[in-house]
Amino acid sequence: MSGKDTYKDLLKTGNLKSTKHRNALLETLEQSGLPLTAEELFLRLKEKNVSISLSTVYRILETLVDKGFVIRSQLATGNKALYELSHKDHHHHLHCVRCRQIFPVDGCPLEDYEQLLADRFGFTVTGHNLEVFGYCEKCKDHKQDG
Ligand SMILES: [Zn+2]
Ligand SMILES: [Zn+2]
Repeated sequence: MSGKDTYKDLLKTGNLKSTKHRNALLETLEQSGLPLTAEELFLRLKEKNVSISLSTVYRILETLVDKGFVIRSQLATGNKALYELSHKDHHHHLHCVRCRQIFPVDGCPLEDYEQLLADRFGFTVTGHNLEVFGYCEKCKDHKQDG
């Protein structure tokens, strides 16, 4: 899956023009399958020989977050925001606070809860984010080491 207009239709639903940079950025997020920081995205785009600046990456991310195509989550353990696609394969992640590995978890336990909120508050839920922190299998015996 490549080609510079892969996300043309998606972008159109947000009244956004399909540009080389937006497409490349969305494609990189999709291929990653894990949330990335803006810096990581920037490096991956460089590896693909996409000529883009870090400030452009930030600017495009802001636009995509505004339109709901990308979800930004702030890690409790650091000050770097992570970005991931919101449009499909919705799932959540476990973050190991020791080795910093991120483990994707299939599926979402919150669908019923969203429905309950919709019923109770008359609120139209368009999304949520949920990040789970803790110690992975490898790290759980070393909690005291930091
Ligand atoms: Zn770990
Ligand atoms: Zn969910």
